[in-house]
Amino acid sequence: MTSTIEAVATLIGDAKRIVVFTGAGISAESGIPTFRDPLTGIWARHDPEKLETASAFRADAALVWGWYLWRRAQVARAEPNAAHLAIVQLAKTREVTVVTQNIDDLHERAGSTDVIHLHGSLAQPKCFACHRIPAEQPFENPIASEGLRIEPPRCPRCKGKLRPGVVWFGEDLPAAAWKRAILATKGCDVLLSIGTSGVVFPAAEIPIIAQQSGAYVVHINPAPVAHQSSRVFCLIGRAAEQVPALVSLIGSTHLLPH
Ligand code: NAD
Repeated sequence: MTSTIEAVATLIGDAKRIVVFTGAGISAESGIPTFRDPLTGIWARHDPEKLETASAFRADAALVWGWYLWRRAQVARAEPNAAHLAIVQLAKTREVTVVTQNIDDLHERAGSTDVIHLHGSLAQPKCFACHRIPAEQPFENPIASEGLRIEPPRCPRCKGKLRPGVVWFGEDLPAAAWKRAILATKGCDVLLSIGTSGVVFPAAEIPIIAQQSGAYVVHINPAPVAHQSSRVFCLIGRAAEQVPALVSLIGSTHLLPH
């Protein structure tokens, strides 16, 4: 009998266009905690969902800036894992667009070239007041796992406070990134949804749109995040184990023009 992973490998083997939709779970094995992982140390008493809002920044900009510097330091220490690397392998033979909710840069550091960030990036702060992105990076200080509250640097143009260039709860997604993501999703044959709980909208619409557009949807997650059907598959397990196993099963048929 064909196993689920073999069935999925066959689907991908026949697919020309693939969208890989990722969430915090793909970076978990690189040491970056997801929202569902318990926080440790000084941050254990904070709820990330309460720190990641414009009103939290207005109320205590130093607390929010300190939180993001801590997250930035975590990402700087992390390395792409086997799942990030397997996606790069897949893109050698098929058209692969990565649509990520993550604000880390592990897909790019693994070697993925077509990456759409729906929720912005930790690496690019912008001004809270005038929304400009400063030409110079204000991160000369290699921060501070210790630092709980750190005053944000000021915008060189208007002297407003700099905030992280990420999408906070209640904010719109970057319009161009969302448009490109929808376009890729509507045109794909298979959508792999890896390490996402599917509760943060509108990003969580991506697998739904893929399914409505006639694509197969494959969820890779240790938790059963969807019901299987004739067009929806679940590979239960960790991304760094499941994604390389899947990619190694896919035939080496080269579907990209040489
Ligand atoms: P989430 O925290 O809501 O859910 C994480 C999901 O990953 C869960 O379904 C969990 O079962 C799964 N998971 C845990 N370990 C896994 C593993 N080893 N392999 C595969 N899956 C695993 O994260 P989300 O769905 O991405 O949505 C919440 C928001 O969290 C997003 O907006 C994202 O920007 C933000 N976030 C990003 C990062 C990052 O950039 N690395 C980290 C934390 C949170």
